[in-house]
Amino acid sequence: MVKTIFNLPLKQRQSIAIIGAGAMGVSTACILAKLGIAKVSVFEAESKAFNKNGASINNTGILHHFVYGGHHDTLEHLFQQSILFRKLMPEYVFGDGQVNYLVPDDIENTAINQVGVTFKDVAASLVNIYQKHLQNYQNENILGHPKDLIKILDKNAIKSLLGNFDPTKQNIAGGVQVKQFVLNLAEYVCHMVNLFNSLVRDKFVDIHYNQKVHNIAINNQDFELNINHNDQLYFDTVVNAGYANGLSIPIPELRNEQYIEGNLVRLKVYGLYKIPASLKKKFPEIDKSFSSTILIRGQYGGIIKVGYNYLAIFSGREYNQAELDFPIAETPQNIPGEWLHNLEKITGRTEAEMLNAIKQDISRWIPWVKGLENIKLKKAVQVYPGRKFANDLDAAKRDDNPVRYLYQHKNGGKYIHIPGFKLTSIPYNALQVILEILSTYIYQGILTQEQVNQHITIDQNQQIILSSEMNAALGKNLSQLTIAEREKILDEWEVY
Ligand SMILES: Cc1cc2nc3c(=O)[nH]c(=O)nc-3n(C[C@H](O)[C@H](O)[C@H](O)COP(=O)(O)OP(=O)(O)OC[C@H]3O[C@@H](n4cnc5c(N)ncnc54)[C@H](O)[C@@H]3O)c2cc1C
Repeated sequence: MVKTIFNLPLKQRQSIAIIGAGAMGVSTACILAKLGIAKVSVFEAESKAFNKNGASINNTGILHHFVYGGHHDTLEHLFQQSILFRKLMPEYVFGDGQVNYLVPDDIENTAINQVGVTFKDVAASLVNIYQKHLQNYQNENILGHPKDLIKILDKNAIKSLLGNFDPTKQNIAGGVQVKQFVLNLAEYVCHMVNLFNSLVRDKFVDIHYNQKVHNIAINNQDFELNINHNDQLYFDTVVNAGYANGLSIPIPELRNEQYIEGNLVRLKVYGLYKIPASLKKKFPEIDKSFSSTILIRGQYGGIIKVGYNYLAIFSGREYNQAELDFPIAETPQNIPGEWLHNLEKITGRTEAEMLNAIKQDISRWIPWVKGLENIKLKKAVQVYPGRKFANDLDAAKRDDNPVRYLYQHKNGGKYIHIPGFKLTSIPYNALQVILEILSTYIYQGILTQEQVNQHITIDQNQQIILSSEMNAALGKNLSQLTIAEREKILDEWEVY
């Protein structure tokens, strides 16, 4: 049973609705439950949290930073968010502790292999960022000594990733290995489902599956949610983290609001593949020493270890299938039905053809990829805060404020619109949302700033500082499910 932090009496608890039970909604609900300040109700349009259509189960699980290194502030910000994510999660949700970045000598290669910002510059910046981080937070040496954070890969190391093919023939200009976390997606999903279900079981959170929110209205006392076109339910505060079908809920009328431009929504795909025994025999390194490998180029690609025996492969040419700008003021907007249900109509190719095309593209650089067994094409919608990127540098900037729209109700409660953005950012962003919510309790004199600061605060480096109790808010100390229970989830949730 969770011991809550503030454990407020019922009459002081706000009733808070969270829309969407993906990683963003579930993380926010779990942190709220740990604080013991609200009656939390989650509304999920589908029949499961982390359901098979959402982004949270269909992503490559990299805790990102290096690849955005062309923009220093973004590198720093994402690094900080990765460290926080790692700190809050149990060890077993991570599948890989290092990522290789190879730089093809390619004319299209604009990412971080250009004059002014090469992968070596990014490597140096990252070491600096980590050193600075350790000066400020001595105990956070999760990645060991800064001098071991990055290793420049020599020809032999590169050769061992390519499967004994001559790197000079592959035109790889160089590479680095970065200590960086990658999720084992199956373990992450099982952990979050386990955590969420345990909070639901113990009545810290109410979950309403198959309950789609269609409208949010503001009335005199509170926010009024229209569910499934039938029920009207009332809440002091609403956190909207429900996007898989686009921004289909009209936002409340713009009044006294902090309003930021809309979101960019992209349909992204990658292939999931299994390593067959025949390939392990031919290329034993794949089992013994291979770690996730990303090719840095104009539109990058990579091979990510997302689970035991499973690799996710994405290729820049195939990664983004469709995109739309979603200005917030013009909601509701639904993404076209074909995006998720008839990809063939958009691409003119079957999913099997796309799986082969992804392998084909990456095998130009890493030939053993051709020997992988196709499992399935994974596809989902990713929501980016902000507009369409004007250029590569703009695309690398990922330090936008993720709270796109904030409305302060006269009752003191808030409507907060928050796209999940990157999985890497979710614990950080969820805690930012929680700080917004806590500010209403301070405003109403229910909690003091000092009480809140003891458990959660943002310091002058934009670092989120948590008490030891809050460090456990995302289930770091929760007992892991048995193998049989985890396998049941993998099966039912269709993780692989
Ligand atoms: C192909 C791909 C690869 C990615 N790779 C990475 C990566 O390597 N690293 C990284 O950090 N990030 C990555 N991301 C981004 C990451 O997956 C997302 O940022 C994150 O999962 C978003 O979580 P979310 O909870 O906001 O969204 P989702 O998981 O999509 O959840 C939204 C939920 O809201 C529900 N919902 C929608 N509308 C309503 C409604 N009206 N009423 C009720 N419920 C509703 C949906 O059913 C869904 O369950 C990737 C994304 C994609 C698509």
